[in-house]
Amino acid sequence: MSKFVGAHVSASGGVFNAVANAQAIGAKAFALFTKNQRQWNGKELDGETIDKFKNALQASGILPRHILPHDSYLINLGHPEDEQREKSMEAFLDEVQRCELLGLDKLNFHPGSHLKKISEDECLTKISEAMNITLDKTKGVSLVIENTAGQGSNLGFKFEHLAQIIDKVEDKSRVGVCIDTCHMYSAGYDIRTREAYDKSWSEFDKIIGFKYLMGMHINDSKAKFGSHVDRHNSLGAGEIGLDAFRFIMNDERMDDIPLILETIDDSIWKEEIALLYSFVN
Ligand SMILES: [Zn+2]
Ligand SMILES: [Zn+2]
Repeated sequence: MSKFVGAHVSASGGVFNAVANAQAIGAKAFALFTKNQRQWNGKELDGETIDKFKNALQASGILPRHILPHDSYLINLGHPEDEQREKSMEAFLDEVQRCELLGLDKLNFHPGSHLKKISEDECLTKISEAMNITLDKTKGVSLVIENTAGQGSNLGFKFEHLAQIIDKVEDKSRVGVCIDTCHMYSAGYDIRTREAYDKSWSEFDKIIGFKYLMGMHINDSKAKFGSHVDRHNSLGAGEIGLDAFRFIMNDERMDDIPLILETIDDSIWKEEIALLYSFVN
Protein backbone atom coordinates (compact mmCIF):
# COMPACT_ATOMS: atom_id res chain seq x y z
CA MET A 1 0.00 0.00 0.00
CA SER A 2 1.53 3.26 -1.05
CA LYS A 3 -1.30 5.62 -0.12
CA PHE A 4 -1.47 7.04 3.38
CA VAL A 5 -4.96 8.35 4.08
CA GLY A 6 -6.27 9.85 7.30
CA ALA A 7 -8.07 12.88 8.70
CA HIS A 8 -7.46 15.98 10.76
CA VAL A 9 -8.30 14.40 14.10
CA SER A 10 -8.93 15.97 17.48
CA ALA A 11 -6.04 16.31 19.92
CA SER A 12 -8.25 17.51 22.71
CA GLY A 13 -7.07 16.33 26.11
CA GLY A 14 -3.50 15.96 24.83
CA VAL A 15 -1.66 15.46 21.54
CA PHE A 16 -1.35 11.71 22.25
CA ASN A 17 -5.13 11.41 21.92
CA ALA A 18 -4.80 12.24 18.23
CA VAL A 19 -3.08 8.90 17.65
CA ALA A 20 -5.96 6.90 19.14
CA ASN A 21 -8.47 9.04 17.26
CA ALA A 22 -6.65 8.28 14.01
CA GLN A 23 -6.51 4.56 14.72
CA ALA A 24 -10.23 4.46 15.53
CA ILE A 25 -11.08 5.52 11.96
CA GLY A 26 -8.60 3.22 10.24
CA ALA A 27 -6.23 6.05 9.33
CA LYS A 28 -2.67 5.46 8.14
CA ALA A 29 -1.91 9.19 8.35
CA PHE A 30 -3.32 12.13 10.27
CA ALA A 31 -3.24 15.86 10.89
CA LEU A 32 -3.57 17.64 14.22
CA PHE A 33 -3.21 20.96 15.97
CA THR A 34 -0.44 20.70 18.55
CA LYS A 35 -2.07 23.57 20.48
CA ASN A 36 -5.43 25.34 20.45
CA GLN A 37 -5.66 26.73 16.92
CA ARG A 38 -7.69 29.79 17.94
CA GLN A 39 -5.37 31.02 20.70
CA TRP A 40 -1.97 32.67 20.54
CA ASN A 41 -0.46 30.83 23.47
CA GLY A 42 -0.54 27.10 24.00
CA LYS A 43 0.39 25.07 27.03
CA GLU A 44 4.02 24.02 26.82
CA LEU A 45 4.58 20.40 25.81
CA ASP A 46 5.97 18.62 28.87
CA GLY A 47 8.16 15.52 28.83
CA GLU A 48 5.37 13.19 29.88
CA THR A 49 3.07 14.38 27.09
CA ILE A 50 5.84 14.02 24.52
CA ASP A 51 6.65 10.48 25.70
CA LYS A 52 3.00 9.49 25.63
CA PHE A 53 2.69 10.81 22.08
CA LYS A 54 5.82 9.04 20.84
CA ASN A 55 4.88 5.74 22.50
CA ALA A 56 1.33 5.84 21.15
CA LEU A 57 2.66 6.62 17.69
CA GLN A 58 5.16 3.81 17.71
CA ALA A 59 2.52 1.34 18.87
CA SER A 60 0.16 2.53 16.10
CA GLY A 61 2.61 1.88 13.29
CA ILE A 62 1.87 5.32 11.83
CA LEU A 63 5.09 6.97 10.70
CA PRO A 64 6.03 10.53 11.69
CA ARG A 65 6.39 11.45 8.00
CA HIS A 66 2.70 10.65 7.49
CA ILE A 67 1.66 13.20 10.08
CA LEU A 68 0.89 16.73 8.95
CA PRO A 69 0.49 19.12 11.90
CA HIS A 70 -1.43 22.31 11.06
CA ASP A 71 -0.52 25.64 12.60
CA SER A 72 -2.84 28.14 14.31
CA TYR A 73 -5.34 30.08 12.19
CA LEU A 74 -4.21 33.34 13.81
CA ILE A 75 -0.74 33.32 12.26
CA ASN A 76 -0.16 35.63 9.27
CA LEU A 77 3.50 35.63 8.17
CA GLY A 78 2.68 38.18 5.48
CA HIS A 79 1.01 40.66 7.84
CA PRO A 80 1.55 44.22 6.59
CA GLU A 81 2.15 45.61 10.11
CA ASP A 82 5.46 44.83 11.80
CA GLU A 83 4.10 44.33 15.30
CA GLN A 84 1.46 41.86 14.18
CA ARG A 85 3.90 40.07 11.92
CA GLU A 86 6.39 39.73 14.78
CA LYS A 87 3.67 38.18 16.91
CA SER A 88 2.88 35.75 14.10
CA MET A 89 6.53 34.82 13.64
CA GLU A 90 6.93 34.16 17.34
CA ALA A 91 3.89 31.88 17.36
CA PHE A 92 5.08 30.20 14.15
CA LEU A 93 8.48 29.45 15.68
CA ASP A 94 6.71 27.93 18.67
CA GLU A 95 4.64 25.75 16.32
CA VAL A 96 7.77 24.46 14.56
CA GLN A 97 9.50 23.82 17.89
CA ARG A 98 6.49 21.81 19.03
CA CYS A 99 6.91 19.63 15.94
CA GLU A 100 10.61 19.21 16.76
CA LEU A 101 9.75 18.10 20.30
CA LEU A 102 7.19 15.59 19.02
CA GLY A 103 9.63 14.18 16.46
CA LEU A 104 7.52 15.37 13.51
CA ASP A 105 9.09 16.56 10.27
CA LYS A 106 6.46 18.86 8.73
CA LEU A 107 4.34 21.87 9.62
CA ASN A 108 1.43 22.80 7.36
CA PHE A 109 0.51 26.51 7.30
CA HIS A 110 -1.53 29.02 5.32
CA PRO A 111 0.78 31.46 3.54
CA GLY A 112 -0.76 34.74 4.70
CA SER A 113 -2.93 37.75 3.86
CA HIS A 114 -2.04 41.22 2.62
CA LEU A 115 -5.19 42.70 4.18
CA LYS A 116 -5.35 45.05 1.17
CA LYS A 117 -2.55 47.14 2.69
CA ILE A 118 0.45 45.93 0.70
CA SER A 119 0.92 44.39 -2.75
CA GLU A 120 0.81 40.65 -3.41
CA ASP A 121 4.53 40.68 -4.17
CA GLU A 122 5.43 42.43 -0.93
CA CYS A 123 3.27 40.04 1.05
CA LEU A 124 4.79 36.96 -0.61
CA THR A 125 8.30 38.27 0.07
CA LYS A 126 7.47 38.84 3.74
CA ILE A 127 6.26 35.24 3.96
CA SER A 128 9.49 33.86 2.46
CA GLU A 129 11.58 36.02 4.81
CA ALA A 130 9.64 34.83 7.84
CA MET A 131 10.19 31.25 6.70
CA ASN A 132 13.93 31.82 6.31
CA ILE A 133 14.20 33.24 9.83
CA THR A 134 12.23 30.29 11.23
CA LEU A 135 14.27 27.71 9.31
CA ASP A 136 17.49 29.23 10.67
CA LYS A 137 16.29 28.74 14.24
CA THR A 138 15.03 25.17 13.86
CA LYS A 139 16.07 21.75 12.62
CA GLY A 140 14.47 18.85 10.82
CA VAL A 141 11.01 20.34 10.23
CA SER A 142 9.90 21.26 6.70
CA LEU A 143 7.55 24.20 6.24
CA VAL A 144 4.62 23.06 4.12
CA ILE A 145 2.71 25.88 2.44
CA GLU A 146 -0.97 25.22 1.79
CA ASN A 147 -2.77 26.46 -1.30
CA THR A 148 -5.86 28.50 -0.47
CA ALA A 149 -9.25 29.19 -2.05
CA GLY A 150 -8.31 32.87 -2.15
CA GLN A 151 -11.03 34.06 0.16
CA GLY A 152 -10.67 37.68 1.28
CA SER A 153 -7.06 38.81 0.90
CA ASN A 154 -5.53 35.35 1.43
CA LEU A 155 -2.66 34.60 -0.90
CA GLY A 156 -1.71 31.14 -2.09
CA PHE A 157 -4.65 30.55 -4.43
CA LYS A 158 -2.45 30.54 -7.52
CA PHE A 159 0.32 27.99 -7.99
CA GLU A 160 2.48 30.99 -8.94
CA HIS A 161 2.11 32.38 -5.40
CA LEU A 162 3.49 29.18 -3.88
CA ALA A 163 6.31 29.06 -6.44
CA GLN A 164 7.20 32.67 -5.70
CA ILE A 165 7.39 31.96 -1.96
CA ILE A 166 9.54 28.84 -2.52
CA ASP A 167 11.83 30.78 -4.86
CA LYS A 168 12.87 33.13 -2.04
CA VAL A 169 13.31 30.38 0.58
CA GLU A 170 17.02 29.73 1.04
CA ASP A 171 16.92 26.10 2.26
CA LYS A 172 14.89 24.40 -0.46
CA SER A 173 15.31 21.04 1.27
CA ARG A 174 12.94 22.15 4.04
CA VAL A 175 10.08 23.67 2.08
CA GLY A 176 7.10 21.95 0.51
CA VAL A 177 3.45 22.42 -0.38
CA CYS A 178 0.17 20.88 0.69
CA ILE A 179 -2.56 20.95 -1.95
CA ASP A 180 -6.15 21.06 -0.73
CA THR A 181 -8.52 19.73 -3.41
CA CYS A 182 -11.40 21.96 -2.26
CA HIS A 183 -9.18 25.04 -2.33
CA MET A 184 -7.67 24.24 -5.74
CA TYR A 185 -11.12 23.69 -7.22
CA SER A 186 -12.55 26.82 -5.69
CA ALA A 187 -9.48 28.74 -6.88
CA GLY A 188 -10.12 27.67 -10.49
CA TYR A 189 -8.10 24.46 -10.97
CA ASP A 190 -10.56 21.84 -12.20
CA ILE A 191 -10.05 18.16 -11.35
CA ARG A 192 -13.50 16.74 -12.11
CA THR A 193 -12.64 14.91 -15.33
CA ARG A 194 -9.56 12.97 -16.39
CA GLU A 195 -8.69 15.72 -18.85
CA ALA A 196 -9.14 18.56 -16.36
CA TYR A 197 -7.26 16.62 -13.66
CA ASP A 198 -4.29 16.02 -15.95
CA LYS A 199 -4.24 19.63 -17.09
CA SER A 200 -4.36 21.09 -13.56
CA TRP A 201 -1.63 18.79 -12.25
CA SER A 202 0.63 19.33 -15.23
CA GLU A 203 0.29 23.03 -14.53
CA PHE A 204 1.19 22.30 -10.90
CA ASP A 205 4.24 20.36 -12.01
CA LYS A 206 5.36 23.07 -14.40
CA ILE A 207 4.93 25.95 -11.95
CA ILE A 208 5.82 24.32 -8.60
CA GLY A 209 7.04 20.77 -9.25
CA PHE A 210 5.95 17.45 -7.72
CA LYS A 211 9.12 17.20 -5.69
CA TYR A 212 7.61 19.87 -3.41
CA LEU A 213 4.31 18.02 -2.87
CA MET A 214 4.49 16.92 0.78
CA GLY A 215 0.83 16.42 1.60
CA MET A 216 -2.75 16.87 0.46
CA HIS A 217 -6.06 17.81 2.01
CA ILE A 218 -8.78 15.64 0.53
CA ASN A 219 -12.04 17.59 0.53
CA ASP A 220 -15.06 18.01 -1.69
CA SER A 221 -16.33 21.57 -2.13
CA LYS A 222 -19.68 23.16 -1.32
CA ALA A 223 -18.64 26.25 -3.23
CA LYS A 224 -18.74 26.52 -7.03
CA PHE A 225 -15.76 26.19 -9.36
CA GLY A 226 -13.64 29.33 -9.34
CA SER A 227 -15.75 30.98 -6.62
CA HIS A 228 -12.79 31.59 -4.27
CA VAL A 229 -15.03 30.49 -1.42
CA ASP A 230 -13.62 28.02 1.13
CA ARG A 231 -16.40 25.59 2.10
CA HIS A 232 -15.52 21.93 2.48
CA ASN A 233 -17.97 19.10 1.91
CA SER A 234 -18.02 15.33 2.38
CA LEU A 235 -16.59 13.30 -0.51
CA GLY A 236 -19.09 12.95 -3.33
CA ALA A 237 -21.54 15.36 -1.69
CA GLY A 238 -20.08 18.50 -3.22
CA GLU A 239 -19.27 20.13 -6.54
CA ILE A 240 -16.14 18.08 -7.24
CA GLY A 241 -17.64 14.58 -7.13
CA LEU A 242 -15.91 11.26 -6.58
CA ASP A 243 -13.94 10.83 -9.81
CA ALA A 244 -11.24 13.31 -8.75
CA PHE A 245 -10.58 11.27 -5.61
CA ARG A 246 -10.45 8.06 -7.64
CA PHE A 247 -7.79 9.69 -9.85
CA ILE A 248 -5.76 10.74 -6.80
CA MET A 249 -5.86 7.27 -5.23
CA ASN A 250 -4.41 5.83 -8.42
CA ASP A 251 -1.87 8.56 -9.04
CA GLU A 252 1.60 7.48 -7.94
CA ARG A 253 2.68 11.12 -7.66
CA MET A 254 0.62 11.17 -4.43
CA ASP A 255 2.32 8.06 -2.99
CA ASP A 256 3.86 8.11 0.46
CA ILE A 257 2.55 11.54 1.53
CA PRO A 258 -0.19 12.25 4.08
CA LEU A 259 -3.61 12.49 2.39
CA ILE A 260 -5.80 14.20 4.98
CA LEU A 261 -9.59 14.49 5.11
CA GLU A 262 -10.95 17.76 6.45
CA THR A 263 -14.48 16.92 5.35
CA ILE A 264 -17.37 18.31 7.36
CA ASP A 265 -18.90 15.17 8.89
CA ASP A 266 -16.34 13.48 11.14
CA SER A 267 -18.82 10.71 11.95
CA ILE A 268 -18.25 9.27 8.45
CA TRP A 269 -14.47 9.67 8.23
CA LYS A 270 -14.00 5.94 8.75
CA GLU A 271 -16.28 5.25 5.75
CA GLU A 272 -14.61 7.96 3.68
CA ILE A 273 -11.16 6.49 4.35
CA ALA A 274 -12.41 3.01 3.41
CA LEU A 275 -14.06 4.47 0.30
CA LEU A 276 -10.80 6.10 -0.80
CA TYR A 277 -8.88 2.85 -0.34
CA SER A 278 -11.56 1.00 -2.32
CA PHE A 279 -10.73 3.23 -5.30
CA VAL A 280 -7.19 1.83 -5.61
CA ASN A 281 -7.05 -0.35 -8.70
ZN1 LIG B 1 -5.32 24.57 6.26
ZN1 LIG C 1 -10.39 24.87 3.50
